[in-house]
Amino acid sequence: MQIITSIPELCKLDNTALVPTMGNLHEGHLSLVEKAKSVAEKVVVSIFVNPLQFGPTEDFATYPRTFEQDCEHLEQLGVDVIFAPLITAIYPNGMEASTYVQVPQLGEILCGASRPIFFKGVTTVVNILFNLVQPDKALFGEKDYQQLFLIKRMVKDLFMPVEIIGMPIVREADGLAMSSRNNYLTVEQRATAPILFQTIDNVRDRLKTGERDFAKLEQQAIAKLIEADFEPDYFKVYRTDLTIPTSNDSDLVILAAANLGTTRLIDNCQV
Ligand code: AMP
Repeated sequence: MQIITSIPELCKLDNTALVPTMGNLHEGHLSLVEKAKSVAEKVVVSIFVNPLQFGPTEDFATYPRTFEQDCEHLEQLGVDVIFAPLITAIYPNGMEASTYVQVPQLGEILCGASRPIFFKGVTTVVNILFNLVQPDKALFGEKDYQQLFLIKRMVKDLFMPVEIIGMPIVREADGLAMSSRNNYLTVEQRATAPILFQTIDNVRDRLKTGERDFAKLEQQAIAKLIEADFEPDYFKVYRTDLTIPTSNDSDLVILAAANLGTTRLIDNCQV
């Protein structure tokens, strides 16, 4: 396994799948790597905590960084290359002056409404990584449903020659979606955290049995989360293409984001 930290060392490999990550790898990330290995000859995993996607009051400085442990996991999985560039290599002109890529409208709802620069940071860095690695395929988790959707949109709109593969959410035994940010939770908060998924799951059951008063379902879910000490950001039932559904729609996704203390948790479930 090669560990590459500078751009001149990186050269295009044939039949490659890229798995972009911010490190602190857990089984959710590793499921993407396993899949990558099954769809391409070479697997590149990038580890880059991207400052462009963090707001000024967010957790860029404290985001968990476990590079050596991550390398061990990836070595065991038979990854070919870890690409772990410096910030100055990715943004040589500084972040403010850098060219960026932004998906309008759909990037401004849900997580984009409360984290206004988040998706601009994500689509820009993913674009840079695609240009550097030139993968044939790239894998992303459905855990970040809106992110996956926007990346697919960017690739389509800009005719980028890469196939995007989405992978199912990997959960802890109690239903909590795995996330590097789960490390921030206190013991008490960790015990509360699965309520986010339970609330989504309950709404999914009710949608499956034909309930279609989306506003009522959303309000009840928000009330349940507040009662459990969450500070909900949003809880929405949308069409899977992130547009607003009517009662005739059955292709639905439930998306939620909520803070538990200072930790932001997101989750979703397709119906
Ligand atoms: P991150 O390191 O959080 O930026 O995530 C890197 C990739 O892993 C993204 O495509 C995420 O959607 C994906 N990912 C993170 N958590 C999970 C999970 N629990 N299940 C599946 N994919 C995940």
